[in-house]
Amino acid sequence: MAKILLRPDFLFVGGENWETIKNGELLIEDGTVIYAGPRRQYTGGEIDKIIEGKNRLVMPGLVNAHTHAAMTLFRGYADDMPLMDWLRNKIWPAESRLTSEDIYWGTMLAISEMIRGGITCFADMYFNMDAVAQACMDSGIRASLAQGLIGLDNVKGTAGLKESKKLVSNWHGSGEGRITIMLGPHAPYTCPPQYLQKVMETAAELNLPLHIHLAETRDEVRECLKKYNKRPVELMESIGLFKHRVLSAHCVHLSKEEIEILASSKVSVAHNPGSNLKLGSGIAPLADLLAGGALVSLGTDGAASNNNLDMLEELRLAALLAKGSQEDPTLLPAREALKMATLNGAKALFLADGTGEIKEGSPADLIMLDLEKPHLYPRHDLCAHLVYAAVASDVEMVMVKGTILMERRELLTIDEEKILYEANVRAARLTR
Ligand SMILES: [Zn+2]
Repeated sequence: MAKILLRPDFLFVGGENWETIKNGELLIEDGTVIYAGPRRQYTGGEIDKIIEGKNRLVMPGLVNAHTHAAMTLFRGYADDMPLMDWLRNKIWPAESRLTSEDIYWGTMLAISEMIRGGITCFADMYFNMDAVAQACMDSGIRASLAQGLIGLDNVKGTAGLKESKKLVSNWHGSGEGRITIMLGPHAPYTCPPQYLQKVMETAAELNLPLHIHLAETRDEVRECLKKYNKRPVELMESIGLFKHRVLSAHCVHLSKEEIEILASSKVSVAHNPGSNLKLGSGIAPLADLLAGGALVSLGTDGAASNNNLDMLEELRLAALLAKGSQEDPTLLPAREALKMATLNGAKALFLADGTGEIKEGSPADLIMLDLEKPHLYPRHDLCAHLVYAAVASDVEMVMVKGTILMERRELLTIDEEKILYEANVRAARLTR
C-alpha cells in the first residue's frame, strides 16, 4: 500500500491535550501513522502521494458514537411529534416495509453525509445489519455495528440473538479490522431483564460489548420505576449489565446515584444533544457526568430525529447546552468537547487500536479542513473555531486507515449521484 505525506499548516494530533502544531507533517504507510509532528526534512525514501496543506488543518476523524444510519430514509418524514407517538404511528410502520436493499442505500446516504462532515467512524444500531456492513465495506468507513434486539417476544428475541451471532462470524474484523460488532439490546423498555440475561450470556460467550439506549425520556424512567421499582440505570446495574462493556446512548434523566454508577462501572455514555432537543426529551446532565468521571462521547442519533448527521453541529450544541443550562461558560471547554468527539468516541466503541487520535502506530483515520473561509479568520484559537465556528462543508479531505474517501470534497469510493437517486425512490415507496 501507499506511502502518503501530508504537510498541513496546522496539525492537531488530538488525544488528551489538543496542542496546535504549526507547520505539521504526517507520514502514513500501509494505513498506519508512522510520524506526526513538526515538519522535518523528509528522507524516508519514495512517497506515493504528497498532500500539501496550505491554510489547512489536519485532525483526527470524528467518531459518531450513536446513530441509526439507514433512518436517513425517514429524514423529514415525521417531525414535531412526541417520541412514542412518532415511533408507533410513523416510524415503526414505515420501518416494517424496509428491505435489505433499502437499508443498504439508506446507510450509503448516511455514510456520504458523514464523510462529507468529517466522520470517519460510527456506531450503528439497526436491523438487516449485513446490508449496513456491506455499505461500510464498499465506502471504506469504519464502524461498530449492532443488530437492534427487541426481547418482548420470545421468538423474535431469540432470532435476533441468532442473527447477531451470524453477524459476528460474517463481519467481525472485516475490512482489515474496520468493522467490529456489538450486541444491541434496544432499551430496558423493549428488553425485559430475563431477555437481557440471555443477551449478557451471548456477550460473554462471544466477548462482545453492548450498545443500548438508556434513560432517554422522563416517561421511560417513570415506567421503569412503576414496573421494577428501580430507575433504568439502577435496574441495569442490579441485573449485572455493567459487568460487561456497555455503550449507553442518551442518559438524559439520571439521579446522582446513577451518575456514580455509570462512572464507577466505566460505562461509555453517548451524548446526543440534537436528538434529545428535537424529540423534547430533555438535556443530559453533561457537566455532572464529566465531573463524576464518566466517559462521555458524542452522537447524532438517527437522521429522523436530528435531522442531520453533522458532528460539528453536535459538538457546538453539546458545548453550548452544557454552558447555557448550568449558567456557567467555563463548562465543557473547546478542547474537552473535541476530545469527546474523537478519542472518547473511539474508547466508547471499545476500539483499542489507537483510533481516535493521531499518533505513531495508530490507524490513519483523519480529516483535513479548509481554513480559507471568512468564518475561520482570524486564527487566535483553532480549537475554539472547530467547536464554535466551523461547519461540515469546511471538511475537505477524509481518510480512513490511509485510504482517501474524500478529496477536495469529492467522494472517491462511492457514487453519490446513484445514492441520492436510490434514496429518493425508496423513501417515497416506504412512506406511501
Ligand atoms: Zn438511538
